Amino acid sequence: MPVAPLKVELLAITPNALSLIYAAFRQCYHAGFVADMWPRLVAGEADRDAQADFVRKVLESGHDSPVEHASFSFAVAGISRACSHQLVRHRVASYSQQSQRYVDASNMDYVLPPAIAQIPEARQRFEAFMTEVGSAYRDIKAILEADGRGDKAKEDARFVLPQAAETRIVVTMNCRALLHFFSLRCCNRAQWEIRAMADAMLDICKRELPAIFASAGARCETLGYCPEAEHFACGKYPTLKQLLAAGK
Ligand SMILES: Cc1cc2nc3c(=O)[nH]c(=O)nc-3n(C[C@H](O)[C@H](O)[C@H](O)COP(=O)(O)OP(=O)(O)OC[C@H]3O[C@@H](n4cnc5c(N)ncnc54)[C@H](O)[C@@H]3O)c2cc1C
Repeated sequence: MPVAPLKVELLAITPNALSLIYAAFRQCYHAGFVADMWPRLVAGEADRDAQADFVRKVLESGHDSPVEHASFSFAVAGISRACSHQLVRHRVASYSQQSQRYVDASNMDYVLPPAIAQIPEARQRFEAFMTEVGSAYRDIKAILEADGRGDKAKEDARFVLPQAAETRIVVTMNCRALLHFFSLRCCNRAQWEIRAMADAMLDICKRELPAIFASAGARCETLGYCPEAEHFACGKYPTLKQLLAAGK
């Protein structure tokens, strides 16, 4: 039962994502039929930098629904069930998660929180518990199998699995949902695990589609101040209240 490292891999991105978003924006403001310009857009005959500039400017104006036409699909491994539960609270997304009903967890990997890893006494207690959980899972599964539960033994044995149990999940989000997800989960208020995952996804998005994601991240990074209440602010940026008090 080893510790599982975080892995975030890009599986797919909507083809011609920048041109598609550009075309969607253009259709809003253009009397003609955008399909007529589409072959030139994808052939690169219409300058991609100009497309990116146009998209950036319209996005800044707050008109952001056209970015919904492009999506990213990620495969994520090495996250805990605690983290995946936080992830799937984001409803504007599609998920396919490894099933604990059908996949045998006898050799379950787990996620070790860094704060626990740093303190030998806490780490030892945590690891001893993981070993005990693994053993309880295997024992209960074996007892249920001996009782004739067959393949269904796993789905009940899994009730002893901890939140630390590693899970794997495929996530698809469109760019608007991703911008929202990053604004919440790249923030220091988010827990370290989902923040690490969101940061890794953001790095990929910035590389693949900088016109949309170059300045994405926690809300403070785009606003220049922290929109959280005073007691939640991490101190990286001044809060709105602090700015107002300073007369800025
Ligand atoms: C730091 C932090 C702490 C948190 N703590 C808790 C906690 O203690 N308990 C808890 O239960 N959750 C907690 N959450 C989860 C949080 O409440 C949201 O469920 C989660 O962040 C998903 O955000 P969302 O609903 O904006 O995203 P999505 O579900 O992806 O929705 C995106 C946007 O679509 C709109 N939308 C979606 N569905 C609806 C709807 N039904 N009605 C109206 N508008 C809708 C909203 O504008 C929403 O922002 C926490 C989140 C964070 C970041």
